[in-house]
Amino acid sequence: MSWVDALARPEIVALKPYEHAAWRPELERLHANELPWSPRADAADAEGLNRYPEPQPQALIDRLARLYGVAPASVLVGRGSDEAIDLLCRAFCRAGQDAVLVCPPTFGMYAVSARIQGAQVHAAPLRLEAGFALDEAAVLERCDASTKVVFLCSPNNPTGNRLDTTAIRRIAGALAGRALVVVDEAYIEFADGASLAADLEEFSNLALLRTLSKAHGLAGARCGALLADPQVIALLRKIIPPYAVPRLTLTAALAALESAALAATGARLATLRSERVRMLAELPRLRAVTRVWPSEANFLLAEFTAAGAALERAAAAGLLVRDARAYPGLAQALRITIGTPQQNDRLLEAWS
Ligand SMILES: *Cc1c(COP(=O)(O)O)cnc(C)c1O
Repeated sequence: MSWVDALARPEIVALKPYEHAAWRPELERLHANELPWSPRADAADAEGLNRYPEPQPQALIDRLARLYGVAPASVLVGRGSDEAIDLLCRAFCRAGQDAVLVCPPTFGMYAVSARIQGAQVHAAPLRLEAGFALDEAAVLERCDASTKVVFLCSPNNPTGNRLDTTAIRRIAGALAGRALVVVDEAYIEFADGASLAADLEEFSNLALLRTLSKAHGLAGARCGALLADPQVIALLRKIIPPYAVPRLTLTAALAALESAALAATGARLATLRSERVRMLAELPRLRAVTRVWPSEANFLLAEFTAAGAALERAAAAGLLVRDARAYPGLAQALRITIGTPQQNDRLLEAWS
């Protein structure tokens, strides 16, 4: 039995997947109960929204594989990386028996998806006093036979720091064959360090989450990817809903991945980084701000003398920032997304 089949839920390994309508674009489609005409409002796509989309669109998979530097068989695309998080919990965690491990304060979807699946959520908190560094020993200590998926977020949301890649590699090595180590790289395009994509080959239990929602500006399109061992991808393809990439999303994603669009994205990332440097310098000069943590993402975590009042003043200036006060240890913290230079100016003005 392969290590993936041994780790996954037996009923998912045994599952006979839904057979979607065959994808034979060379033939005229009288096999999927579609209407033979496009809706009137459909001007977007020659193929037409009356047709079901290609289940795992090969052109997009090939393009993402090239962009991320992995083989196409290592790519699963879906509705944002949120969908991949959900599929991982479903495929690997038996309800009432298995667990995931998270490192709070971190992105809330890992715990939510695990709980929806009925899995336990174990925690190995980041070390606040060490700039939210990964607690490698605690991660390994908290992992037991029930732990199927370890979620690490790097750069981490909401703290903005990148996790030590050497520690991640050691964790993946120590958990080989025992648990999947999933590194969420939603913000890696904003970071100084590189993706762990080059390590997938060496660590077959390592998996990466990537998304077009942040750096590529396509949050509204809902498109994300899981990069993992082809056996993990094949398992998840059995349970992903049959038409997980809508036609409109495919069109928008392919357009965003053309070379001219990627060049424009690169220029915007440069602007965003310089605004991040500026905000990191300016925010601590405000009396209302007691601390700003360095960030490799497109947001800054800041601590205020009175976060509630700061939220109100931002709102009075027409700006919404994220309340981070519910995270343990962050009682007066807000998470500030880097906006346009003008928006950033307005925020600084509101708090000065
Ligand atoms: C925004 C974000 C995502 C992206 O989710 P999508 O479903 O791809 O939009 C994933 N992980 C983290 C940590 C995020 O902050």
